[in-house]
Amino acid sequence: MLDATPKEIYDRKALTINPAKTCQPVGAMYAALGVHNCLPHSHGSQGCCSFHRTILSRTYKEPAMASTSSFTEGASVFGGGSNIKTAVTNIWKLYDPDIIAVHTTCLSETIGDDLPTYINEMDIPEGKYVIHTNTPSYVGSHVTGFSNMVKGFINYLAKNNKTKNGKINVIPGFVSPADMREIKKILKAMDIPYIILPDTSGVLDAPTTGKFEMYPKGGTTIADIIDTGNSDMTIALGKVASEDPAVALEKKCKVPFKTLNAPIGIDATDNFVFELAKITGKQIPESLEEERGQLVDLMIDSYQYFNGKKVAIAGDPDLVISLTEFVISLGMIPKYVITGTPGEEFVRKVNAILAKAGIEGSKVKALGDLFDMHQWIKNESVDLIIGNSYCKYIAREENIPHVRFGFPIIDRYGHYYCPDFGYAGSIRLVEKISNAILDKIERECSEEDFEAVR
Ligand code: SF4
Repeated sequence: MLDATPKEIYDRKALTINPAKTCQPVGAMYAALGVHNCLPHSHGSQGCCSFHRTILSRTYKEPAMASTSSFTEGASVFGGGSNIKTAVTNIWKLYDPDIIAVHTTCLSETIGDDLPTYINEMDIPEGKYVIHTNTPSYVGSHVTGFSNMVKGFINYLAKNNKTKNGKINVIPGFVSPADMREIKKILKAMDIPYIILPDTSGVLDAPTTGKFEMYPKGGTTIADIIDTGNSDMTIALGKVASEDPAVALEKKCKVPFKTLNAPIGIDATDNFVFELAKITGKQIPESLEEERGQLVDLMIDSYQYFNGKKVAIAGDPDLVISLTEFVISLGMIPKYVITGTPGEEFVRKVNAILAKAGIEGSKVKALGDLFDMHQWIKNESVDLIIGNSYCKYIAREENIPHVRFGFPIIDRYGHYYCPDFGYAGSIRLVEKISNAILDKIERECSEEDFEAVR
């Protein structure tokens, strides 16, 4: 029972209830799993590492391999130097990765562990690597952790050897393996040589072969990460998750970058495809034009069920910005839009999208939580909720259809094979949204009307 009035709870600054985010190391671990033969290493207590692995495994239904420095009371007082050196020695012997990607946890950040010095003092076998990034969880969110880990790979490995490789780097953001596959599909369809960093496809959506693979086939190779420094350009998909690593690569290797919105919905995907065509001079192939045409066809076919419907959206900032734009193009009204990740630019961007569409009276919040969204919905309800698995509690209590979107989705299967990105992903989103709305109409309408819903 909270000892506060409703107004105090509503205006609270120091308390989060039902967060719309998770902690930095989750994103860092996810990014490291997208590097081939890489073992993510959590520098902190076993409990932290177990939580990060669990949330990733529950989302993608695959083992999320990672090791830990296993802090106990001694490490908390005297520092985790000896723990991580012992851990790394054991990891080379037992698990033999090509690279260990270390991220910190709240405890190691609070005691101020000096990771660069520890790594310098390690005995690292020839041809192997240990890299690190700092991921204090009292700052940012899992999206920040993802960004920091990608930046860590670039800071340690990327090299400009003065010979251009003719490739485009793509930093995809904290998105599912299916979205990473979709980006690669578009690049291949346009015949564009690329390096995607990281790439969890083939790792967290790997097929069952009957044989356990500690390091599945997928993931960006170390050679490719080094080679990002020789690419013609970097495309950062989403400012929060992907721009910082692109800036780091520009500073280190003089590779220019462009930040684009995550390609969800027709406008953002058009922009991605047109920019690729402009940068590389490549044609947009018929296969993509056909998919785009199908998406437009579907949007027109189902428009009558979307027009004027109010929607509440919660999720990661880069994805929510594009999704807000997309639902407006479907004729819907984004009534409540929140992200758990801090950053007022999110609010500015979403408000600009709403203003451009002439939509007034919506509530937009960064560093918001699902309790905020629930209170807003109680005051004025919506027709649809789009957000991760935890939104289902609001949906059930308020009898509102719910479309699962973003991270984590722990109570559904197969979503990691189906993209939200690109024209193909947008078609899937329209299908999911229309099904959710139609299911509710059909559940609640009369026998005669049931037949009329087509
Ligand atoms: S202590 Fe910090 S790093 Fe560990 S699980 Fe909690 S928030 Fe994440």
